[in-house]
Amino acid sequence: MLRARAVVENLKEYHPPLGRREGLRLDFNENVGGCSPRVLRVLASISTEVLNKYPEREVGELAVAEYLGVAIDRLLLTNGVDEAIHLLCETYLEPGDEALIVVPTFSLYEIYALATGAKVVNVQTGDDFAFPTRRVLRAITPATKLIMLATPNNPTGAVAARADLLAIAAAAPHAALLVDEAYWDFHGETLIDQIGAVPNLFIARTFSKAFGLAGFRVGVLIGDEAQMKMVRRVGSPYNVNGVALACLTEALQDREFITSYVTQVREGRTRLEQFYGQRSIPFWPSRANFVLAYFGSYRKPLVEEMRRRGILVRDRNSDPGCAGCVRITVGTRPQTDRLLRELSEAFAAVGFQPQPRPVESSSTQPATPTAPGSQVAAGAGEVRR
Ligand code: PMP
Repeated sequence: MLRARAVVENLKEYHPPLGRREGLRLDFNENVGGCSPRVLRVLASISTEVLNKYPEREVGELAVAEYLGVAIDRLLLTNGVDEAIHLLCETYLEPGDEALIVVPTFSLYEIYALATGAKVVNVQTGDDFAFPTRRVLRAITPATKLIMLATPNNPTGAVAARADLLAIAAAAPHAALLVDEAYWDFHGETLIDQIGAVPNLFIARTFSKAFGLAGFRVGVLIGDEAQMKMVRRVGSPYNVNGVALACLTEALQDREFITSYVTQVREGRTRLEQFYGQRSIPFWPSRANFVLAYFGSYRKPLVEEMRRRGILVRDRNSDPGCAGCVRITVGTRPQTDRLLRELSEAFAAVGFQPQPRPVESSSTQPATPTAPGSQVAAGAGEVRR
């Protein structure tokens, strides 16, 4: 009988919602305001040739290299950051190696790492979800071959300081360090200038968030040219589709669209945080396009009540250390107006009373390995977008 590899058979099934997400989708950190109208115009005039020929990635890479101010041999366009993560795992992890991640975080780090047969070492953040630099440094071993960190992190919105990330890169020269800057547009701090100077550093960016192009599946991985040569070997030359490539230049040029959207998100983020603060609802200050808050035992009824009101928000209860937490994506100004109005009404409808968040023991736990063959940690049965 045909059997999948043991690590694959033991991976938890992974069911991202692939349909029926009707309403105002504040559950996946997408740009639900749309995308640049200039992209839509290019899309409407796509020629047959774009469809019948294999895509020419280099044209898109030149445009992105110029946009980021990075040499083209240090950059690879990918099928979303998802694929960038996958390629790094394929390039640097062997069975028995250790991949180090900080949890809670984006679930694909763990899934792609485990699928290689490597062990995943989870460094749990404290109750404040602050980036646990010292614990990460302590968890590095000679077997650590890949460290994957998101800043701002998903689902917490917390960021890691530049100096701390550089200290981690220096402490693990034998490991690849991925700094996932998927939410960079809403934060503004980057390590991109260190590419080349720090040979084991990789940065990922995406067009799925601020640019509003999650459906195109375009991300970019940036790293030292010698390392990028290795990463390119494991990927498909046609990983990014021609339609997305044809629209990319226009998307990059419409700075006005991005600026306007990012401004609205930042304002909305402050409004949502103030809304929580005024009601004594525990929340974590965010540098991304979402805010995580604690609703305790009201979490489930609130998520359901919001759904009834046509707004999808994200239950993060099963993420490590996130019991009772809900993450809400921030969108455009009118969307935030609607969100705050509906949230107030939903609170009244379910009789919500803010609860202090109990201190969890997770903050004192040592780094925990998830070995290949064991179950993926809590919550990984669903994708954490
Ligand atoms: N990294 C992080 C931290 C994310 O939260 C997400 C998606 N939510 C991704 C990467 C995936 O991005 P993409 O759509 O480019 O695959």
